[in-house]
Amino acid sequence: MKYADIIVDLSLEKLDRSYQYEIPEELEHLAMIGAQVIVPFGKGKREVKGCIIDISKEPKIEPERIKKIKEVIPNSTVIESELIRLAWWIRDTYGSTMNEALKTVIPVKQAMKMQEKKSLHLIMEQKQAMFLLEEFKRKKNTARVRLLLELLEEQVLDYRLVTQKLNISQATLKWFVEHKIITIETETYYRNPIKQQKKKEIDIVLNKEQTIAVRKICEDFWQGIKKTYLLFGVTGSGKTEVYLAVIEQVIAAGKQVIMLIPEIALTYQTVKRFYHRFGDRISILNSRMSKGERYDQYLRAKRGDIDIMIGPRSALFTPFEHLGLIIMDEEHENSYKSEQTPKYHARETAIERASYCGASVLLGSATPSIESWYRAQIGEYTLLTLKKRAKAAQLPKVYIEDLREEFKAKNYSIFSRHLQELIQDRLQKKEQIMLFLNRRGYAGFVSCRECGYVMTCPHCDISLKYHQIPYKKGKLLCHYCGYQIEIIDACPKCGSHYIGTFGIGTQQVEEMVKKLFPSVTVLRMDTDTTAKKGMHEKILSAFANHEADILIGTQMIVKGHDFKEVTLVGILAADMSMYANDFRASERTFQLLCQAAGRAGRGDRLGEVIIQTYHPEEYCITRAAAQDYEGFIKQELSFRQLLAYPPIASLFVLLIMSETELLAVNAAQFLANAVRSKFPERKTELFCLGPSKASLSKVNDIFRQVIYIKSIKKEQLKQAKNYLEFLISNQEELKKVTIQFDLNPMNGY
Ligand code: ADP
Ligand code: ZN
Ligand code: ZN
Repeated sequence: MKYADIIVDLSLEKLDRSYQYEIPEELEHLAMIGAQVIVPFGKGKREVKGCIIDISKEPKIEPERIKKIKEVIPNSTVIESELIRLAWWIRDTYGSTMNEALKTVIPVKQAMKMQEKKSLHLIMEQKQAMFLLEEFKRKKNTARVRLLLELLEEQVLDYRLVTQKLNISQATLKWFVEHKIITIETETYYRNPIKQQKKKEIDIVLNKEQTIAVRKICEDFWQGIKKTYLLFGVTGSGKTEVYLAVIEQVIAAGKQVIMLIPEIALTYQTVKRFYHRFGDRISILNSRMSKGERYDQYLRAKRGDIDIMIGPRSALFTPFEHLGLIIMDEEHENSYKSEQTPKYHARETAIERASYCGASVLLGSATPSIESWYRAQIGEYTLLTLKKRAKAAQLPKVYIEDLREEFKAKNYSIFSRHLQELIQDRLQKKEQIMLFLNRRGYAGFVSCRECGYVMTCPHCDISLKYHQIPYKKGKLLCHYCGYQIEIIDACPKCGSHYIGTFGIGTQQVEEMVKKLFPSVTVLRMDTDTTAKKGMHEKILSAFANHEADILIGTQMIVKGHDFKEVTLVGILAADMSMYANDFRASERTFQLLCQAAGRAGRGDRLGEVIIQTYHPEEYCITRAAAQDYEGFIKQELSFRQLLAYPPIASLFVLLIMSETELLAVNAAQFLANAVRSKFPERKTELFCLGPSKASLSKVNDIFRQVIYIKSIKKEQLKQAKNYLEFLISNQEELKKVTIQFDLNPMNGY
């Protein structure tokens, strides 16, 4: 006997679970995962539509009580079914409601009206039209004159422009059509966000390492072997060329490709490389698109109008019916993890989706995540390596500068003496410089030097940050809730006027650079200067055109940009990401430093990198300076092993939130107790820590409590999660608070 887990009609929102049905023998050949079915439901004769999400031989309740599937809708395993199945997996793995999971996977459910492009075409001969124009003028028929004049000038006019801006009525248009002066043409078009670009011939010959990587993946592909590959190659080693070559073959096989790139690295430069190779069989997704634009992309993909979808995390859910390959560039990036429930990771989700349709997965990075490295070590992924930079460019020279020594030598500037020297040198040689400031936790907070009082947000448990506004008094701003006040002159606690900003932001760096090197031209890239649409690209292209000597920026500038004239990179304060309260802090610091260093010397000249730090002995800094990825990972893995952190163990964080602190505390205590009594530590391998205040204990007047649950057994952790979800949906007390799950979080809580 076979049984199917079925989720019933999605419009019944409350039914956030699956139900088991028996598969009658005569339907067995049709009843596949993803198939649409009709099943009896509830009491009486009601029948509803559903979708099979799993098949097993084990009944979950007494077999007599299990109803039978009435009908399987043939050929119904359409793309939506695959995505629904994926939603179910996401829900089950990361913890969320089925509705939340479905919304993630199928973003715009309601049909949107297709945009129609209508245009007017002048079909009457010029001479005749001129004659007509004179007649309209004589009769003082101004609307007809206006329209005909425009038509004589342009030949073709946009319909909406004519009706809205030229103020021509429908009646006038009708008259023009009836008298065979114009025709109105209609075409359905999709708002393709990228202007069409012509395919260009390419003349790159892959080097030996690239060839080996491409051959390995493609040989497997043609033999029908589907795997996950980890392409480990330093920045500039030609990973993108490997992607392009593999994509070419996958498309030649009639399959489709999803190319994931973190939004921040999805620049015009990158996109252009794909367009030159594949013309307009490509589509791009980005977070700034309107719902309509997104939906158009969705339809184009579904109808098979495109072969390649490029985009950030959410592009993973592109409804390709013939998916053959998912590529994930910069696979270590934090942005691949969703910050909203369900807090899915795109890497694991990609591998799951690929398993449904027999697609391959290619992960690429210069600094692979410790997870992926570990998986490759234990043989789950296939490791492919590019050791050299593609264009024989050398890796940059890296120096570590100890800021404590600078202080001893009475250099109070934020630039070490060595960095100042090298900046001077580059300015003389007319070469470019990038200065990188890790903003996390380092932007200026305001405090009193007399009594130590720190200005904090009244709604959040966090200090306010100083923002400068040109020609005006600055503001103090909360980065979490947007609360802002004008900068104050006196300490609210003791009245002292010695109140000011500590730490520095990118703005201050800019000022200090200009003070030291008055003739220098500077571009700055951070959340302030890129708030407006398109600014990100504008700054990058200005810098690429050498319109400035120095680019100052945050994380944003270290990602994937290829500036040929940059020969010096200065990392002003390497330490600042190390003290975030999470177990990934070292890994993140290491990655940032490597990526930043990788920006130097992408052209023919040797690049130099200066890392300024207060902790020159930390292994994440010394290993990054030596560009010793494997050495770093070894050390980091042993640390994770020791403390049972991912990727060795799995970790669930439960975040419990309420406007009333006591409610959050009580709910958290209740849940922690429940886990401990159901899964006693001595008998299971499950560890529960907490509850405790989150380190960010209040946001927007909402109090936050956390519980950590760890286990080296994934299954056991999942059981605990399921048990908690069961409690949450059944206990009245718990319905008063908001509870979120985060599996293997990327950020500290
Ligand atoms: P990555 O993606 O690893 O950072 P890219 O693919 O962007 O590296 O390659 C870096 C630079 O080297 C690019 O300008 C690219 O065009 C060039 N390049 C890559 N492979 C080759 C090759 N085999 N021959 C010549 N140039 C190459
Ligand atoms: Zn004070
Ligand atoms: Zn706030």
